[in-house]
Amino acid sequence: MVYQLLIERTYKEKEQMKEFDVVVIGGGPAGYVAAIRAGQLGLKTALVDEYIGKSGKPSLGGTCLNAGCIPSKALLDSSEHYDRVKHKYAAHGIKAEGVDLDVGQMIARKDKIVTTLTQGVAGLLKKNKVKWLQGHGRLELGMHVTVQPNGDDAAAEKVKAKHIIVATGSVPRELSNVTIDHQRIVDSTDALNFDEVPKRLGVIGAGVIGLELGSVWSRLGAEVVVLEAMDDFLTMTDPEIAKAALKEFKRQGLDIRMGAMVKSVEEGSDGLTVNYADNDGTHAVEVDKLIVAVGRKPHTDQLNADEVALLIDESGYIHVDQYCRTNIPDIYAIGDVVRGPMLAHKGSEEGVMVAERIAGQVREVNHDTIPWVIYTWPEIAWVGKTENGCRQAGRKVKSGSFPLRASGRAVAMDETVGLVKVIADADSDEILGVHIFGAAASEMIAEAVVAMEYRASAEDLASIVHAHPTVSEAVHEAALDVHGQAIHI
Ligand code: FAD
Ligand code: AMP
Repeated sequence: MVYQLLIERTYKEKEQMKEFDVVVIGGGPAGYVAAIRAGQLGLKTALVDEYIGKSGKPSLGGTCLNAGCIPSKALLDSSEHYDRVKHKYAAHGIKAEGVDLDVGQMIARKDKIVTTLTQGVAGLLKKNKVKWLQGHGRLELGMHVTVQPNGDDAAAEKVKAKHIIVATGSVPRELSNVTIDHQRIVDSTDALNFDEVPKRLGVIGAGVIGLELGSVWSRLGAEVVVLEAMDDFLTMTDPEIAKAALKEFKRQGLDIRMGAMVKSVEEGSDGLTVNYADNDGTHAVEVDKLIVAVGRKPHTDQLNADEVALLIDESGYIHVDQYCRTNIPDIYAIGDVVRGPMLAHKGSEEGVMVAERIAGQVREVNHDTIPWVIYTWPEIAWVGKTENGCRQAGRKVKSGSFPLRASGRAVAMDETVGLVKVIADADSDEILGVHIFGAAASEMIAEAVVAMEYRASAEDLASIVHAHPTVSEAVHEAALDVHGQAIHI
């Protein structure tokens, strides 16, 4: 009898072990942040993630830490150092001769950064008592998730959840007429791991990823041609900023061809021939490597969504409301799998919101104040609307701008390319958008985000004291310029 009770107790305990308040599927910046916040709030939480890192071992952090934000920024920083030594230090009176490039060391440094940070996420999960269930998560009826660990012979495990958060992220979009072979025709992940600088590099897509990766290899010496189907450059940014950026990137040597629709790629023993069409007819360009960077698509095809009747739109996005609730009660979706920009910080904030709402707290994400950054050099950063966007939304606007060539600090740094633009409501003076092209734009935009979050007016921003000399003074001056009061121009 006692033996029987013991068995029953052990069985019950085991069953309880498999029951969680929250099960998160996907360990990228949306999912792991949601899991940590849920853990902090005392919810019994599990995180299911299947990502296998470059070393062949499971690795948390999703696209962002393993093959996105972090490794790309590591290489952007390294390549910027190289470019400065080669081309910019002489003006400062620093002579560097015999400068050599060790691509292997550059990639190894990047890999070490990735390992440090992905292991850091594992540590954070542990600290917050989040159980990491390694493997592929699949939704099942009755609020269950089946976890199939990586490896053929590993047995699947079924867990039950009171709440499920889907954060399965995104994967590179492919072109039907260009087959990625991961050798010469590559995706963004492969382009973070070249073992040498290609002599001639093609990039399809002049979006955020194409420009960042094109910049890395161009600074390291590749001849880079970027083919972009759209006629206009960076359509989501302010046109004045986009125009200045295109001019500067071309000056840096990026051969950006707009209105160029790639039709086919032929492989030869000597390289690749990329055939494209523009308004003038058809053309061909010869390259050694080709990066396909035509955007990303939500990763929702292996979730078993149909069986559980989870609503997914024709582009693969999970349908959610403003609180990231799906059509199924207690199932949420966050990050790249749902509407809105595919940005790490947007997914993380959605993760925090969902965890807090599950815990009964009141929390929202203001999607109107999510900053964007393109980490070219100079950087491009913006928050809020463009002037056209405002007009389309029926708002009368006024704007002010300030060129960095008039900023004392930018002149001292020899970083005078770019400008700051502030757009405000013509009647209320509320700031509706801030657009920056310039050194450290990624850091400067935070001020604009805070201002907009508190619904500041251009006058408010213009009345705030900015340290001198800083590049941020350009934000101050652009705000002053909204009322025609800029001092230094
Ligand atoms: P992901 O990061 O894609 O994570 C999803 C995770 O879920 C992955 O680990 C995946 O393996 C796992 N998964 C998927 N399906 C399952 C399943 N069924 N079971 C278990 N696990 C599963 N954004 C920025 O904000 N700033 C940048 O500078 C930036 N740079 C980028 C550079 C590059 C080259 C790329 C490719 C992207 C960049 N991004 C950047 C975009 C950013 O990486 C994404 O927006 C972000 O990673 C999305 O986070 P997520 O958590 O939604 O999904
Ligand atoms: P993003 O979504 O920011 O990563 O940008 C991807 C870019 O790729 C967009 O600007 C698209 O216009 C561009 N693009 C998509 N398909 C093609 C194609 N066949 N040829 C050239 N550019 C393309």
